[in-house]
Amino acid sequence: MSYVLTPSTIEQAVEMLTAHPGARPMSGGASLVAMKNARLIEPDHVINLAGIAALRGFERQADGGLRIGGMVRHREIADAGILTGDQAMIRQAAGVIANRVVRNMGTLGGAVGNADPAADYLPVLACADARLELAGPDGLRHLAMHEYLMDWYETALQPGEFVAAVILPPTGQGPSVYRKLARTPGDYATVSVACARVGQSVRVAVGACGPAPLRAPDAEAAISGRLTDPAAVAAFGAALAALADPIDDVRGSAEFRRRLIPRMVASAIRDVTEAT
Ligand SMILES: Cc1cc2nc3c(=O)[nH]c(=O)nc-3n(C[C@H](O)[C@H](O)[C@H](O)COP(=O)(O)OP(=O)(O)OC[C@H]3O[C@@H](n4cnc5c(N)ncnc54)[C@H](O)[C@@H]3O)c2cc1C
Repeated sequence: MSYVLTPSTIEQAVEMLTAHPGARPMSGGASLVAMKNARLIEPDHVINLAGIAALRGFERQADGGLRIGGMVRHREIADAGILTGDQAMIRQAAGVIANRVVRNMGTLGGAVGNADPAADYLPVLACADARLELAGPDGLRHLAMHEYLMDWYETALQPGEFVAAVILPPTGQGPSVYRKLARTPGDYATVSVACARVGQSVRVAVGACGPAPLRAPDAEAAISGRLTDPAAVAAFGAALAALADPIDDVRGSAEFRRRLIPRMVASAIRDVTEAT
C-alpha cells in the first residue's frame, strides 16, 4: 500500500521526497497508476504534485523565453496559442499523445519525468533547445535535454529531485513541424521527427530511435542554405540514420526505423521549407 502525501509548495515536495527514499512523485497519474496496477512499481509513498500552484501555467520570462509548469496537462499544451513559430511543434506533439483521456490527465512534468524514449515531447523539446527546471534539496537547477537524458529510461534526476518546469528560449520565426509514425493513432511513436526552420537552416531531432532524441549539429551546419537541394537533404537524413541507435521492439525493427528516418526527415524539411 502507498501513502499519498499532498504538498502545496515545491519545497514541501522536495522535503517529502527526501524524507521517503521509496517515494515517487505523481503528476497526472496516467502512467503511474497504470504501473502500480500492473504491480510494476510499489512506492511506499506517492507525492501528489497536483496542489502546487508554482507548477501550473505558462509564464513569459524576462528574456522573452517561456516557462511551462510541470503540472500543465497535454490538453492545455495542445491548445496553447502562445506556442507559435519554432515552438508550434510542441503543440502538435501534445495533440497526438495517446487519446483524449490520457491528454486530459497526463502532464508535461510527468511525461518528461517518465522519460520514455518514444514519448512525443522529447524530440520537440530537444529540437526547441528547451531547458528543464529541476527542483531538489539544493534548490533549482537547469539542464539541457541531452544533459538530462542519460540512457534508456535513465535521467540525471538525483534523490529528492523532480521536474518542476520546462523553459523554452525566446521564440524564433519558425515554422516547425512534428511528424509521428505510429502503428495506430494513439500508439507511441515507432519513429518521430521534430523540425524547425531557422532562417536558411533547420534544427532536427529524431525520437524513438535511441535512448534520447538524436540531434546532429554538424549535419545541421552542413545543410545550412541547402534546404531545397535534394542531395543535401538526402545526405542529412542518411547522416541521422547512421547516428541513430534504434532497437527492435513491438513497434518496429531497428532496420525499419533506420530506413524511415531519411524519409521522415526529408518530408519534415519540405514542410518547413514550403511553409510561409
Ligand atoms: C494508455 C497510454 C498511452 C500513452 N500513449 C502515449 C503516447 O502516444 N505518447 C506519449 O508521449 N506518451 C504516452 N503516454 C504517456 C502519457 O503521456 C503520460 O501522461 C505521461 O507519460 C506521464 O504523465 P503523468 O503526468 O500522468 O505522470 P505520472 O503518471 O504521474 O508519472 C509517470 C512517472 O513519472 C514520474 N513523475 C511524475 N511527475 C514527475 C515529475 N514532475 N518529475 C519527475 N518524475 C515525475 C512518476 O513517479 C512516474 O514514475 C501514454 C500513457 C498511457 C497510460
